[in-house]
Amino acid sequence: MPQPWDYIAKVVNIGDSGCGKSSLTIRLCEGRFNPTHDVTIGVEFGSRIIPVDTSPTSQKIKLQIWDTAGQESFRAITKSYFRGATGALLVYDISRRATFTHATEWLEELRGAADANISIILVGNKCDLGDDKREVPAEEARAWAEGNGIKAFVETSAKTGEGVEEAFVDCAREIYRNIKSGVY
Ligand code: GDP
Ligand code: MG
Repeated sequence: MPQPWDYIAKVVNIGDSGCGKSSLTIRLCEGRFNPTHDVTIGVEFGSRIIPVDTSPTSQKIKLQIWDTAGQESFRAITKSYFRGATGALLVYDISRRATFTHATEWLEELRGAADANISIILVGNKCDLGDDKREVPAEEARAWAEGNGIKAFVETSAKTGEGVEEAFVDCAREIYRNIKSGVY
């Protein structure tokens, strides 16, 4: 039987501890939400097959998502984590400004360690929280992404599922464009 995907892509999660990286992976790969936070036990890996367009004959990319397991301080992540990655989700928590401020450092780390053509998606997680909890306006994050050469920005909720599919689909499509244009 032929394999059910056309390409495999490694996607790495990065961002501060507690912003929901493991939860996003679990939501995408297992369709559920676990409200308890255990920073030391990341999910480590998840995978999902994503069609790159809506046609029935669409090419399919198997995203292999790598998650950090409590190593989320700058320069604590080893080079092997980034090796071979063609996509990255740079995650912050919309209810904690510091996690967004740190995106600058995470981006530096990513640009220093990962492939120059890596497809980066900026993800503002926990958008289910009310406006009274929000510390980072979506427009500010979008402008920051544009100013830093990040093509895609999505707000998500691992809790409700909002935007999660979109974030990973955006990533898969960008990777696919790179494959098709001969970057990889
Ligand atoms: P990580 O350290 O970045 O992997 O973050 P986790 O996935 O472990 O999540 C940290 C905490 O935030 C946990 O208590 C989660 O239940 C909670 N959390 C994660 N995503 C969301 C979300 O979208 N909305 C809300 N309200 N809580 C979330
Ligand atoms: Mg985690």
